[in-house]
Amino acid sequence: MSTHSEHSAVTVLGLGPMGRALAGAFLDAGLRTTVWNRTPGRDGELIERGAVSARSVEEAVAAGELTVVCVVNYDASDAILRRDGVTDALRGRTVVNLSADTPDRARDTSDWAAGHGIRYLDGAIMTPINTIGAPSAVFIYSGPAELYEEHRPVLDTLGGTHTHLSEQIGRAAAYDIALLDIFWTAMAGYAHALAVARAEGISARELAPFAQGIGAILPPLFQETAEQVDRGTFSGEDNPLTSGASTMSHIVHTSESHGIDAGVMRAAEGMARRAIGLGHGTDGFIRVAEMLGRSGK
Ligand code: NDP
Repeated sequence: MSTHSEHSAVTVLGLGPMGRALAGAFLDAGLRTTVWNRTPGRDGELIERGAVSARSVEEAVAAGELTVVCVVNYDASDAILRRDGVTDALRGRTVVNLSADTPDRARDTSDWAAGHGIRYLDGAIMTPINTIGAPSAVFIYSGPAELYEEHRPVLDTLGGTHTHLSEQIGRAAAYDIALLDIFWTAMAGYAHALAVARAEGISARELAPFAQGIGAILPPLFQETAEQVDRGTFSGEDNPLTSGASTMSHIVHTSESHGIDAGVMRAAEGMARRAIGLGHGTDGFIRVAEMLGRSGK
């Protein structure tokens, strides 16, 4: 059982843009916030706002019961945490790792923590730094539910929505991977669209309002097609794969006529044509999810 004082202190390891935003939100909530970063000098503004600057990781984690790690990936968090002095200082304490990486790395870190008597929760942040401390922030966690409940009062001060997904430690990273898959392919599509539009004399600013219109089509489509995927039905009544593949080939041709690489769209068209070849031409594009799933292990 934790005491009030444990719930009023937190350590943040990693002061990149996200780590600084997290530490800032903890300070805004009035928590005693101790910070550390590999490269010194990133904590100036936080110290002005009342943060305690630790001289070493050992000193930082010894300052309280809860340590939040937010660095570029798990190679970085391993480099910080998996050292004898730090491991000793963490024994009996809790680490919440909000760095992004793969489910396998989360499982491996959980095994390491268990082997050293360290309490471990994995997590991911699904929104940009300007949401931290605001209602639109989204955090997901996996690992022991009682550990999550114990530290919820501190984690909640980061604002937004916090969801404990599962006791299975890899689950938050698995959601993160799936959601970042959407984000990065969408951003790759947008960057490519801007290049093609520019080659046709259309500025990014001119395209942007129409691009937002395309973006707005997606949320209801995500919900509708998720239901189709779970049901195993892929209605293409309104927009069959054959029609979609045709418009994709127009994008490929227009891009390449301007000498612009069309690799991403070629890959998308290739998936659509493979599904058509398997006899799914009258289905909707989301049939591709089922097809790709079949080729997985
Ligand atoms: P980065 O992903 O660039 O991470 C920078 C931090 O990682 C710095 O503290 C840096 O230390 C540290 N770091 C890198 N390599 C090492 C290492 N080998 N040893 C120790 N520390 C290391 O920036 P962010 O702060 O933005 O992101 C942190 C995490 O948050 C990432 O996993 C990211 O995916 C996630 N995230 C970020 C979002 C954003 O909008 N920025 C949104 C959602 C999630 P140093 O200063 O010494 O280089």
